[in-house]
Amino acid sequence: MDITGYSRDELLGKTPALIQSGMTPYHVYNDMWATLLAGNVWKGEILNRRKNGELYWEAQTITPVKGVEGEILNFVAVKEDITHRHQQENELRLMAAAFETGQATVITDANMVIERVNQAFTDITGYPSQEVIGKTPRLFKSGRHDKAFYQRMWETLRDTGHWQGEIWNLNKWGDIYPLWQSITAVNDADGEVRHFVSVFHDIAERKRIEHELENQATRDHLTGAYNRRAFDTSLSQCVSDALHAHQPFVLLMFDIDHFKKVNDNYGHDVGDEILQQLAVCIKGCLRDSDILARWGGEEFAILLRSTQQSGGETFAERICQRVRRRVFSGQRITISIGVGEYRLGETQDMLTSRVDQALYAAKHQGRDTVMACAQAEADNVEEDVR
Ligand code: GH3
Ligand code: MG
Ligand code: MG
Repeated sequence: MDITGYSRDELLGKTPALIQSGMTPYHVYNDMWATLLAGNVWKGEILNRRKNGELYWEAQTITPVKGVEGEILNFVAVKEDITHRHQQENELRLMAAAFETGQATVITDANMVIERVNQAFTDITGYPSQEVIGKTPRLFKSGRHDKAFYQRMWETLRDTGHWQGEIWNLNKWGDIYPLWQSITAVNDADGEVRHFVSVFHDIAERKRIEHELENQATRDHLTGAYNRRAFDTSLSQCVSDALHAHQPFVLLMFDIDHFKKVNDNYGHDVGDEILQQLAVCIKGCLRDSDILARWGGEEFAILLRSTQQSGGETFAERICQRVRRRVFSGQRITISIGVGEYRLGETQDMLTSRVDQALYAAKHQGRDTVMACAQAEADNVEEDVR
């Protein structure tokens, strides 16, 4: 009565048709009657309807009670409401399907020992489940993150139960690749962490596109050097570092000597190739923190961070000599260079115009040479020397 919602009086004298939902498959009833009428016990599951209209699953064991002649007198049915079990089974099936079809997933215990992974995990990492179960995610460490990174991750997980972010991992073949990873702590009823569920996807393609877009926005197409805009940004950063962190820096500007003639004699395409090869040659002389930019035409600018005037001049002499000795696209070229250290208090424009004047002076001196700003000023260089 608790199950059906009907009172005893309402049920007595009625057939089970009262509670049938009409939704139990037909063959279940066929099987039931065939079994019972043959005098056997039938066990099965039936979908019924309570008085309030709600559907429920019932496990039934129906036993025919026989008379002395073996004739069936009545049936005794023992019923159990298994709706909850059915719901749980359905939920488990749903979870299992979601686990297998979703993003790469790792389930660990509270100590980060891997308990389960799915197919998407194997697709990305290369590890089949049997090779990772019982291990910890330390197996995937790429070495790209420092201790502090993992410490912050753990602190966030501990404090909020959740962490997400970009992380570089190592796959089975030894490649390092970027992921977007989201880790969630799963607590038991007492609030104790029982599992961690980590879901991730590969963001290498997104990274590649981001990198390409950034390159398009900051690089010169022909030479791959920084463009004028990116150079301006770097220069203002250098000025700020000089003012606030006493970080000296040097600006170099150089221009290819008699490049018009190169174009005239060998064609514009050869000229372009020379520009490309020159950029590669100069980049090979720079540290990671230095910046090479195409200032325009066949004129380039270089920012040397943490460098003073004398260091800048030595560097300029070195590249001047290097270019002189090299062959670019079958041709020999030379460059003229102006060099100046940033002076506290001056604007970006003041620095660039000082260095530009030094470059004019280098041309005036006969080209294939380095001219420092101080000398350029002492020589009182005129604007029209070029
Ligand atoms: P100088 O020694 O005084 O610098 O002589 P120059 O002939 O190099 O004179 P200038 O620097 O004024 O000339 C720039 C020439 O560089 C003009 C043009 O023919 C060439 N040029 C500028 N940009 C490009 C480019 O993108 N590709 C090619 N092939 N040539 C370029
Ligand atoms: Mg030139
Ligand atoms: Mg020029």
